[in-house]
Amino acid sequence: MQPDISIVVPLFNEEESLPELVAWIDRVCTENKFSYEVILIDDGSKDNSWDVIKNLSGDYPGIKGIKFQRNYGKSPALHEGFKAASGNVVITMDADLQDSPDEIPELYRMVMEDGYDLVSGWKKVRYDNAITKNLPSKLYNGVNRWVSGIKLHDMNCGLKAYKRKVIKSIEVYGEMHRFIPVLAKHAGFNRIGEKVVQHRPRKYGVSKFGWERFINGFLDLMSIQFVSRFGKKPMHLFGTLGSFTFLIGFILVAWIVIDKLRLGVDYGVTNKPTFYISLTMMILGTLCFFTGFIAELVVRNAVDRNVYLTEEKIGL
Ligand code: UDP
Ligand code: MG
Repeated sequence: MQPDISIVVPLFNEEESLPELVAWIDRVCTENKFSYEVILIDDGSKDNSWDVIKNLSGDYPGIKGIKFQRNYGKSPALHEGFKAASGNVVITMDADLQDSPDEIPELYRMVMEDGYDLVSGWKKVRYDNAITKNLPSKLYNGVNRWVSGIKLHDMNCGLKAYKRKVIKSIEVYGEMHRFIPVLAKHAGFNRIGEKVVQHRPRKYGVSKFGWERFINGFLDLMSIQFVSRFGKKPMHLFGTLGSFTFLIGFILVAWIVIDKLRLGVDYGVTNKPTFYISLTMMILGTLCFFTGFIAELVVRNAVDRNVYLTEEKIGL
């Protein structure tokens, strides 16, 4: 039997929060007559989180747990949680009680009735440190919107709801949990919605992410955009860039040669900055071009080179 909702919760050292979180989820789901499962992924906690999860699974039938051997990170935890999830709607939530389970019914409704593939929470009023989190986050989300074209205010919000097929179609690797909407969009899911959600101060424990998230996040966004556009045809990028650079270098050289022919012995080719610029550009252009070939070889040998998501089939 598939439950209505799978709630996927990645956690790292959150022993104090778990009983309260699970009791709250259970209360909300019971009141709204949802069948549910909660998948708690213990991402290598060093406190007693796993024992707490084991006890909770005795108290509530819908509790499932996965324990990692060590701390891999939030993305791998979500990845395993998504693999295990079987609900029609899958909701992710942080374990630290900063996200409110009271949002579950409306998120569920938006996916099931309004037909969204993905609904992302928006912590419009935020209870985190203003200098290290809230301000950089605003800036960062602006860049995200601009680069990815997805108009979300709070891309990295831990509280999100998905149609099951969305999470089964994407692979959350590395630290890509910050960009699940981008992954979903690239997999062809365009109905991405947003819901203003309550945010609460952290009651127990400490935050696991600091300012370095913004640097790593930006680099990840660049990679994700690159892989989705050129991942299967890298030569189109490197070849174009390389040829273009080489061509400019070549034109500059031609110009120097013509000048030399025109002006004769008085013209010192190696005295001109243009000479060095053109030389550099031709070398860089060639290198870039050959990088494209190497990238093509890598892609040819990749295991997923012919994985295309099909939505429907007839007669097959
Ligand atoms: N988390 C995790 N593995 C990690 C770091 C964090 O599973 O390596 C979990 C953490 O326990 C929490 C969620 O990811 O449930 C969000 O982390 P946190 O609350 O520290 O982030 P913040 O709210 O400060 O952005
Ligand atoms: Mg938090």
